[in-house]
Amino acid sequence: MSSAQLPNGKSVMENTQVLRDEDYLTAVLSEQLPPVMVESSSAPMTSSEGGHCEVKVNGEEKKTREIVLGRNVHTTCLAVTEPETDDESTGDKEADMASVLARYRITLVERTKHHLGYPYNLDFDYGALTRLQHFSINNLGDPFIESNYGVHSRQFEVGVLDWFARLWEIEKNEYWGYITNCGTEGNLHGIIVGREVLPDGILYASRESHYSVFKAARMYRMECVKVDTLVTGEIDCADFKTKLLANKEKPAIINVNIGTTVKGAVDDLDLVIQSLEESGFSHDRFYIHCDGALFGLMMPFVKRAPKVTFKKPIGSVSVSGHKFVGCPMPCGVQLTRLEHINALSRNVEYLASRDATIMGSRNGHAPIFLWYTLNRKGYKGFQKDVQKCLRNAHYLKGRLRQAGISAMLNELSSTVVFERPQDEEFVRRWQLACEGNMAHVVVMPNVTIEKLDDFLNELMEGRSLWYNDDKVQPPCLAADIGNGNCFCPLHK
Ligand SMILES: *Cc1c(COP(=O)(O)O)cnc(C)c1O
Repeated sequence: MSSAQLPNGKSVMENTQVLRDEDYLTAVLSEQLPPVMVESSSAPMTSSEGGHCEVKVNGEEKKTREIVLGRNVHTTCLAVTEPETDDESTGDKEADMASVLARYRITLVERTKHHLGYPYNLDFDYGALTRLQHFSINNLGDPFIESNYGVHSRQFEVGVLDWFARLWEIEKNEYWGYITNCGTEGNLHGIIVGREVLPDGILYASRESHYSVFKAARMYRMECVKVDTLVTGEIDCADFKTKLLANKEKPAIINVNIGTTVKGAVDDLDLVIQSLEESGFSHDRFYIHCDGALFGLMMPFVKRAPKVTFKKPIGSVSVSGHKFVGCPMPCGVQLTRLEHINALSRNVEYLASRDATIMGSRNGHAPIFLWYTLNRKGYKGFQKDVQKCLRNAHYLKGRLRQAGISAMLNELSSTVVFERPQDEEFVRRWQLACEGNMAHVVVMPNVTIEKLDDFLNELMEGRSLWYNDDKVQPPCLAADIGNGNCFCPLHK
């Protein structure tokens, strides 16, 4: 490509406002990929997630990033340097900092261009909001009860919450909610509300639930029962029933996935409710939190999708704001029933507000960004985006399978699961998220056919090198996505 693409999908030439910055961009783009760090005993690659990661493909140890706890790497950091006494007169420091930031910006443009693995919609333009950056907007406390801090954006926050209340069918005077810092905070909140309503409840979650659900169980010291999944990634309700019946004496708090992280599988909410009822759990003995971080805002626009609505016996729903919606900072939305929130709330004199949120200070900018996009796109706009994502995801799956590559795409999903590429550098270049032998691409509104074609071409090229003799074979994905979707040498 001759001209650099901006995060908003426009070419540099189209975006006159930043043209000056971008003039020198194309010339240096190619050197901006940071070097790959390969494990070695002296400089292990670390990750903030912790844990240990080892990958075996066809019995062969792969060069992978090793995650070593307690040994952080500092080699790539940008050091903070103390100002010299004459900095102010020479302006050297300012110039240095400006050049660091300019280089960083180029990296962001390049990395945005090659992003496919995480479910973030990188297509947005919030130019209209830049002047708000000068304010310390903080919605600390309850969205509905103004605190004494006046630089807030509650009017935007409540407007956004009302929009979601309409989407998930709950009356304005019957819900409570807030704009969170991310999908994880929504899960942490939904599960704590469940526990406050049913203090001795057991938490049930499918094995393929997001790690934040199991983190919540640890944080709150809740008994947690993992439920098996089907090959699609959906909760296995037969196993769920068995486990419910084995714990009949205690109430149930259930995390239902509206799109799992890895396979984009949607748990069957109606079947979950039916399983509870058939196992003798009356509505006052269970609490359902719907983790809609990924598809919470896509599902309503997919025909045939089971409906997430407060007309069903659910307790809360959460969604991430920076995923499908697209937002430059992590954020999310959490909605629950007003009747539940009283079990959790404390009045705080210092705030002159109620404390029912997980965090204290809350990002007051995020609600304005969400408000802006909801206003601009509306239901119709999101519907169009969803249709585009599903269409492009089908295109990707089709092309992969045509090329004899194992791939799966769940019916209600835009997450395409396929064989993990052999080359870690390739994985890193396209920022693919991997688990075991699986990799996935989450098709978001900014993922165009052209970008998918670029990716597919590079993948085919790579594969012809990785698998050019019989010694190395593509990985088997039968256990992950089923025999029918696996095209490994054994199953094709
Ligand atoms: C991404 C995700 C989360 C966590 O959301 P964050 O905004 O990253 O905290 C929770 N659940 C599912 C299913 C997700 O995909």
